[in-house]
Amino acid sequence: MALVVQKFGGTSVAGPDRIREVADHVVRCRKRGDRVVLVVSAMGKETDELIRLADAVSETKPGREMDMLITGGERKACALMSMALADRGVEAHSFTGSQAGFLTDTAHRNAKILEVKPQRIKEAVDAGRVPVVGGSQGVSTDHDVTFFGRGGSDTTAVALAHALGADSCELYTDVPGVFTTDPRLVPEARRMSTISFDELLEMTATGCPKPAMRSVELARSLGVPLHVRSAFTWAPGTWVTQEDPMEAAIISAVTHDTSEAKMTVSGVSDRPGVAAALFRTLAGADVNVDMIVQNVSEAGVTDISFTVPHDQVDRASAAVDAVSESLGSVGVITDSDIARVSLVGAGMKTNPGVAATMFETFADSGINIEMISTSAIRISCVVREDQAENAVTALHRAFQLEKAPEDRELI
Ligand code: ASP
Ligand code: MG
Repeated sequence: MALVVQKFGGTSVAGPDRIREVADHVVRCRKRGDRVVLVVSAMGKETDELIRLADAVSETKPGREMDMLITGGERKACALMSMALADRGVEAHSFTGSQAGFLTDTAHRNAKILEVKPQRIKEAVDAGRVPVVGGSQGVSTDHDVTFFGRGGSDTTAVALAHALGADSCELYTDVPGVFTTDPRLVPEARRMSTISFDELLEMTATGCPKPAMRSVELARSLGVPLHVRSAFTWAPGTWVTQEDPMEAAIISAVTHDTSEAKMTVSGVSDRPGVAAALFRTLAGADVNVDMIVQNVSEAGVTDISFTVPHDQVDRASAAVDAVSESLGSVGVITDSDIARVSLVGAGMKTNPGVAATMFETFADSGINIEMISTSAIRISCVVREDQAENAVTALHRAFQLEKAPEDRELI
């Protein structure tokens, strides 16, 4: 009798029909003998809708009130889900994050979990009920309602699975699992039956939208087995587990991200403390800097380029402007039309030539590389935004990702 935490995303519970289908699925799982705990997101696009309402009403939008507003979406969904289960003869109880024992810090709109005390959830399970928990929410040390941020329901599910000692955490969504690349760009993209936490983390950090990166990080550190799967076909999806080196594919996936801009601070002096001053200033302005490249200096001056999220460009420019003169800089150039294309694979650690093949593939497609960065299991290149699709398609083909790992020819 497995204990399974099942999380349903917004599209999975978008309307009455969807909610009834999920309830039917829960009934099937229970017939099989599983004990089920549900975590639900707000229905469909409700979270966006609530944020739009707040924008229309208020300019100040105090964090405390925003969290009270947004978490109402999940609260509504879990009550409706419990009703649908009741109709099927399943005793189900809805719980807010607070009732479910999620204690958080006081950082409204982006609260961090401090502790999970799932006493009431345990009691419900022991009594044979199905607890249905509102995702992405808790109660702060100040006793206020808090929201974990966008995509936070995945984090609720992982933390709850750990706190309950569940056998697994299933993240149900509108796609059948984790793919070798975005299937909307490359129709040959393949669903992977398994992937390692490390690889999925690199993928979510470089443009794979689901599951939320924070939840993958948490699942890895807590050792919670994840199963990303479809709430539409109910077919098995992708298991995320600790890496099995016997089966590690050389390359697992290609991701892309067009949400960043490139900034170049040119002509800065090549002396100790310049990069420190620049990036301390950016950190002080709360800018999330990503890829950083510094050129070889010529005659004591150099260029430093880095990427930042589009929505932080203004903040970043203002911060850089304030210090650029003291760094000796002659100017700052912002380029929004870039994309980052990344190759992820645990097997690249032990297989030489991956970078060479990646760069040759770009060369053959006439794609210029503007920046390169690597980790042990990822290589990322910044290219022109309008070449991103080509780049992804070409890499997917070059590394034969449409084939199962055992069927690929070595390159
Ligand atoms: N409903 C929230 C959002 O859309 C939380 C979640 O779905 O994870 O971000
Ligand atoms: Mg969502």
